Amino acid sequence: MKELICIVCPKGCHLKVDEEQDYRVTGNGCPRGEEYGKMELTHPTRVVTSTVRCTGGAHPRCPVKTDAPIPKALIMQAVRCLDGVELTAPIHTGDIVVPNVCGTGVSFVATRDL
Ligand code: SF4
Repeated sequence: MKELICIVCPKGCHLKVDEEQDYRVTGNGCPRGEEYGKMELTHPTRVVTSTVRCTGGAHPRCPVKTDAPIPKALIMQAVRCLDGVELTAPIHTGDIVVPNVCGTGVSFVATRDL
């Protein structure tokens, strides 16, 4: 039995996931917690946030995030692929900064206008 805190919403339900009973989830306040509990033990993923260098704007760095969750095992590799990226203003929220991060089909996108 694995115990987790659901991070899908601020309520933070304390989940119990039973690996021996087909990842049965208890303690969840809604169906999203059941989905999260199963995913966290079988295929954990996260949306990744970071910043990249930017010239010509009001700030030297632009915040970015993946436009969908990626496998947790790829997070460090994904962040490293931002190291050499330098954007030039103007930048718009939602602009693709790095496409197909680590072959996942997910993109890093800008999360603010600069
Ligand atoms: S189980 Fe549902 S209600 Fe509880 S923290 Fe997760 S998303 Fe929120």
